[in-house]
Amino acid sequence: MAETCSCSAAPTLFFPCSGGSNVGQLANDISRQLAMEGHGKHFCLAGIGAHISGMVASAKAGSKIVAIDGCPLKCAAKTLAEANVPVTHSIVLTDWGVEKTYNLFPESELVQKNKERLLAIID
Ligand code: SF4
Repeated sequence: MAETCSCSAAPTLFFPCSGGSNVGQLANDISRQLAMEGHGKHFCLAGIGAHISGMVASAKAGSKIVAIDGCPLKCAAKTLAEANVPVTHSIVLTDWGVEKTYNLFPESELVQKNKERLLAIID
């Protein structure tokens, strides 16, 4: 499981909601970029929702658990709470002024701007 994706323990773990909207995909893009830049790991939220025991244990071992949600429904934060994974940072992108649409390809400028804002909060 952990050897074939990035769902292993690390100090900082990102859980994007990855929803079917611009803000859901913005959450996903931000998480992927942060992971590729070495700021933490992009974790499989679906594995938490499925209560895969090893993945839940790895998630609980993180010292920063960052839920990145697109909108106030907060699917990522709620999925983590349901599995008793303590969220240390709960980000909602619409709270940052991003309007929710159904464009699944958020602009790179939007990714960059919100990624930097998130980094400033968790660092
Ligand atoms: S938080 Fe909002 S954007 Fe993300 S999956 Fe849930 S409904 Fe979709």
